[in-house]
Amino acid sequence: MIIAPNTVVSISYVLREAHATGTVIQEVNQQEPFSFLFGQGQLLPDFEANIQGKKEGDQVAFSIDHSNAYGEYDEEQVISLPKSSFVIDGEVAEDFLRIGAVIPLQTQDGHQLTGVVSEIGEEDVKVDLNHPLAGKDLHFSVEVLSVRTATPEEIAHGHVHGPGGHAH
Ligand code: ZN
Repeated sequence: MIIAPNTVVSISYVLREAHATGTVIQEVNQQEPFSFLFGQGQLLPDFEANIQGKKEGDQVAFSIDHSNAYGEYDEEQVISLPKSSFVIDGEVAEDFLRIGAVIPLQTQDGHQLTGVVSEIGEEDVKVDLNHPLAGKDLHFSVEVLSVRTATPEEIAHGHVHGPGGHAH
């Protein structure tokens, strides 16, 4: 079976920055493969385009320019929060007040987002709202581990059931 819309695809992959010998950003191995419902817009369009038509055992390597991945890095997406906002019930939230800490935030209209602490100053804390991969060109080395037809239930739910997926 080849990868096509409404198939369930399991892959292992290595994501590197920019090119085939770039810094490894993420590695998903065969023991804990990534499974997804193909053609539902869950992955980058270029990612799906590069693996469409492949079958079990195929290996494919390709690059995706940042403009087709997570966009430009935007300096204006780095916000300053007063250090006092890291005080919860009178105590400094040490877990959040460190470089690299992931901070759940809510916009005024109630939208949920996450930021990463990038700088801790005397009065203020800088929180980076950019996607961690913003501004980065990506290189993927993918191995297709399995391809199967999605069940009607999976298509209705828009996600994979069973190993690597949802319980229901
Ligand atoms: Zn479901």
